[in-house]
This record gives sequence, C-alpha cells and structure tokens, in this order.
Amino acid sequence: MKYFSKKIDDILYSGITDRSDDSLYYLQIINLSYILSLSGIAFLCVFFVFVSQWPIVWFQMISVFIGIMGFRLNLKGFHSKSAVFLPFFLIGYLLISSFFFIGANSDLHWATSLYPIYSFTVFQRKHYLKRIYLVLLGSIGFFLCEFIAPETSILVTPQQQVWLSAYTFCISMIFASLIMNLLISRLIKANQHLKHLAEVDELTGISNRRKVLADAVDVFAGSSFNGKKCSFAIIDLDHFKKINDTYGHDAGDLVLREVAQQMATKMDASFKLGRYGGEEFVIVMPDTDVLSAEQSMEAMRANIEDLQIETKQGIVVPVTVSIGISSINFNTMRYEEVLSEADQALYLAKDEGRNRVKTYSIY
Ligand code: GH3
Ligand code: MG
Ligand code: MG
Repeated sequence: MKYFSKKIDDILYSGITDRSDDSLYYLQIINLSYILSLSGIAFLCVFFVFVSQWPIVWFQMISVFIGIMGFRLNLKGFHSKSAVFLPFFLIGYLLISSFFFIGANSDLHWATSLYPIYSFTVFQRKHYLKRIYLVLLGSIGFFLCEFIAPETSILVTPQQQVWLSAYTFCISMIFASLIMNLLISRLIKANQHLKHLAEVDELTGISNRRKVLADAVDVFAGSSFNGKKCSFAIIDLDHFKKINDTYGHDAGDLVLREVAQQMATKMDASFKLGRYGGEEFVIVMPDTDVLSAEQSMEAMRANIEDLQIETKQGIVVPVTVSIGISSINFNTMRYEEVLSEADQALYLAKDEGRNRVKTYSIY
C-alpha cells in the first residue's frame, strides 16, 4: 500500500522541483487532472474498440495524443500554459464527441460540471479572471451540447448512450473525490508544518517556550482541579557564556542540543520539557511531589555532568547545570507563581556554587 501511495505521489509530483513547497499543490492538481482525463478518454477508446466503432476509436486516439502534448507542457515546467490548455482541449473534445460521434444523450458533456473545481483549485485568487473565463467556457460548452447537439447518433445505440452517461457520472465522482482528497491532505500537511513551527525550538528540536508554557498551564489546571501535586523545574546551564567564549558559539549550540536531547531521552515520559530561554529549560512534572521531583532532577543533573560533549575539533566541553524546583501547594493560585518560585530556587543553586538542585521553600 505504501509502495503504491509513494508511486502515486511520484507521478503527481512530476515536473515539480520543490516537493516541500505546499503552495505548489495546484501543480499536482494539473497533473492529476491530465492523468484522469486522458485515462478517461483512453478507457472510452477501448470501449469503442469492443463495439467496433472505428471512426470514434480514431478520434479518441488523436484526442489522447493531443492531451499528452498538454500534459508534457506541465512536466516541462510550462505550468500555466498546461493549466489553460486542458480545459480548452476538453471542451473541444466534448463538443466534437457530442456533435459528431455519440450524441447529447450520452451525457459526456456533464463532465463540464467539474470546471469550477478545476478552475478554483488550479488558479489562485490573483488569476480570478481565468477562473471566471474557464467556468464560462465550461458552461457554454455544456449548453451547446445540451441544446444544440443532436441527441442521438447513428454510431452508438441508445443502450450504449446509457452506459456512457453512467460512465460520465462515475468518472466525475472519481475526479471530484481525488481532487478533494489531494487538497485536504495538502491542507493537513501545511497545518502540521505550521504547528511544528509554532511549537518546536529550531535549535534543539524540543518544545519552545510557547509550547512548554502551554503544557505548564494544562498540567497546572489539571492538578489544581484534581487536587494532585505537580512540580516545575527550571534548568540553567552553568557559566554558559564562558563555554561560548572559550569554545565558540557553534560549540555552545552543540552543548544546548546535546543537553536538550539528554534531558528529553532520560526524563520520565509524562514530563514536559521545553526551552524557556537562551540556555534555560523548563520541565513540567505532573503527579510529582517535591521529593520525587528533587530525585528526578538530581539524577538529571548527574547525567548532564557525566555527558561527554565533543566539539568538531575533538575537544570535550565540560558542562553542568543548576536546577530550581517548586511544587504547587494548597494556596497556589496561578502557574506563574510556581515558575517564579522555581526561578528563586535556581538563583539559590547558583548562589551556593552551581551544579546543584535546590527546591523552593518559604522558610
Ligand atoms: P550562569 O552560570 O550564572 O547561568 O552564567 P551564564 O554564563 O550561563 O549566564 P549568562 O546569562 O551570563 O549567559 C548566558 C549566555 O547564553 C549568553 C548568551 O550569549 C548565551 N546564549 C543564549 N542563547 C544561545 C544560543 O542559542 N546559542 C549559544 N551558543 N549561546 C546562547
Ligand atoms: Mg546560565
Ligand atoms: Mg540563564
């Protein structure tokens, strides 16, 4: 299944150089529209081979050939030409089919009801005139076939016309479903990307300040509501400025990444970690009283002290952290109070000589 969805993706991305650009989704819709239209015509060609209507077979084959020319334009990067070519090509195809080969009762011209979907997804707002013209083109094509084209044809029987009508319905449904599916999946992807940008710290890959504070609010509210304990810790790298000054800014960045990764992998799965500021991190610990928090953070501090972070030049950078902890108690009203208390405990840890864990105490 995965293999097929990758293959389909490859086909839809044909002629698109930047796959990561979600705003190029419309190029995929052009590809998809060509593939569906040409397959639809090729299928009809097979049908007319079976019923031995050779003039129609020839017409279908020529149509597929002309359609492929338009498709190649998109593959070669002439996207807007290719995008406009398809609806004109199809109108020509539908008019000639209805007028000369299969008759209006075959209902093939009802496929023009897809023109608004195509125009509004392929052309952007700034090309609104193209959108309007193409919808008009589809409408004119439809009315010409519906009211002027002969209803019947000497080449196809009324029974075959019923089949063609059902076929038009099916292919229109498939086209609409696939375009909607493609659009929605692109939208979901773009949303996920935006969410990632809004929540993840670029340097370390862990939650950013906004996200970890949102987690803090959630955990605090849940704990207050359920009368449970929760603790916050602020972790600050010791003498980090000196690390930057001695080993360079790149080494400083490396230390931040390594320490963040170490904390993310070693901490309890229920804890929430985020980068609070430059070289400061926050850990939110749900269902954790101050003693358990102290034990966890002491283990974390020792882990970081034992880290062997090696720079590109092969120099091992010694790194330690100071940690301040506070827990909610019966008269805590806001999560900011817990955070501020953890910050005060952190100052105490710095004051007492760094590389240690301190818990907030009112005494
Ligand atoms: P203390 O032990 O008292 O915390 O001392 P410190 O040097 O760690 O604290 P200070 O606040 O004086 O310095 C923090 C430094 O962190 C200063 C700033 O240049 C550095 N820093 C902040 N963000 C980044 C970053 O993203 N990358 C790097 N390499 N350095 C950063
Ligand atoms: Mg520091
Ligand atoms: Mg700091």
